[in-house]
Amino acid sequence: MGQEKKHCQQCGREIYFDGICVSCRAENERNRFLALSEEEMNQAVQQICREIAETGKLDHERELCSKLIQYRDINTAEIAKQAFSKGVYHPWELYKDAPDDVIDQMIALLMEDDVEVRLVNNLLLCLSIHGGQKVFQTFLEWERNPRKWSEKICVAPSEYAFYGGWSYDRQGNWMKTMFDTCYPMVKGTLEQKKKSPVKIGSRTGEKCKRCGCELAYLMEIDGRDQRLSFLGLDGVVKVKGCPNCVAWDGGDFCRYQLDGSSELVPEGDGFTTEDYLGEEGIEELSSNTYCLGETPVSLRYATDWEGGSSVGGFAFWIQDYAATYCPDCGRPMQYLAQIQWDTVLDGMEGNAYLQICKDCQIVTMLHQQT
Ligand SMILES: [Zn+2]
Ligand SMILES: [Zn+2]
Ligand SMILES: [Zn+2]
Repeated sequence: MGQEKKHCQQCGREIYFDGICVSCRAENERNRFLALSEEEMNQAVQQICREIAETGKLDHERELCSKLIQYRDINTAEIAKQAFSKGVYHPWELYKDAPDDVIDQMIALLMEDDVEVRLVNNLLLCLSIHGGQKVFQTFLEWERNPRKWSEKICVAPSEYAFYGGWSYDRQGNWMKTMFDTCYPMVKGTLEQKKKSPVKIGSRTGEKCKRCGCELAYLMEIDGRDQRLSFLGLDGVVKVKGCPNCVAWDGGDFCRYQLDGSSELVPEGDGFTTEDYLGEEGIEELSSNTYCLGETPVSLRYATDWEGGSSVGGFAFWIQDYAATYCPDCGRPMQYLAQIQWDTVLDGMEGNAYLQICKDCQIVTMLHQQT
């Protein structure tokens, strides 16, 4: 019942209802936000502040607030000030440009001993998103001399910090855990893909020892392309992985050389899994036509369900941020790229996340889904 096949009125793909598909709807929404004028954005900010001031909540305009941050990277100072005065902490990203006095007051709240655990969690996340010297020094201090609330939270402040794109190693050295530029992967032609410095899912001809599926270069990145200079990779990185096992075997990583050679290092024996992809799946994956976009986008552009695959910026973590440490040097790794599976493999859910340690020339591969 109701399972009759229809076609999206915008892109033509098969759907089961009249109208346009989810990804077309997301695209239209994105385009609407990208087209807003400065004045319209200022008005939207006022609208958001008004709701918080009048109701003490960010409910009705919450989506508006998130999308403005996601697509336009608006300055959130005014919203943060208003939100903090009413105890509104979601979305945490609204604190990215919080004024100094708000940050000071948040830190002061965490200096109390009887803070409720939910508030601790919210405050640590908001502070992480904001980042900066003061937050870093305070986190370090709290890690060395834990506050009473630290027993109630599962992870150290240094892991919260990843949400803001930074962290520190055991010696207390500050590190960036992201790249300050973001490029989307966009649909092109096979011809355009040949010239793209980033490719998804190319064939390797090698077989996975666990499941027999053909290994793929989950992503190939030619750091010499001028668009990718922000990565600081003077060569080609080919991240080799098993597209079939990646969903099961967290912890696999890949050692790469900048000449394009790479080696998959499986984590233990893993499960011996069935090869669900087969030749057909590998063919579908490798024949996608995604290419690196021509121009950079806002850093949080790809942070939702229809965000697509992207290089740099922030990831869309379907579950919690998987803070990852380099298997060689033990220091926090840098988030490099994500692949939204259903854009390249029909029926495969979730995202793959690549994180890199450039010092040790290692990329880890993780998968998350609902
Ligand atoms: Zn569509
Ligand atoms: Zn495999
Ligand atoms: Zn390392």
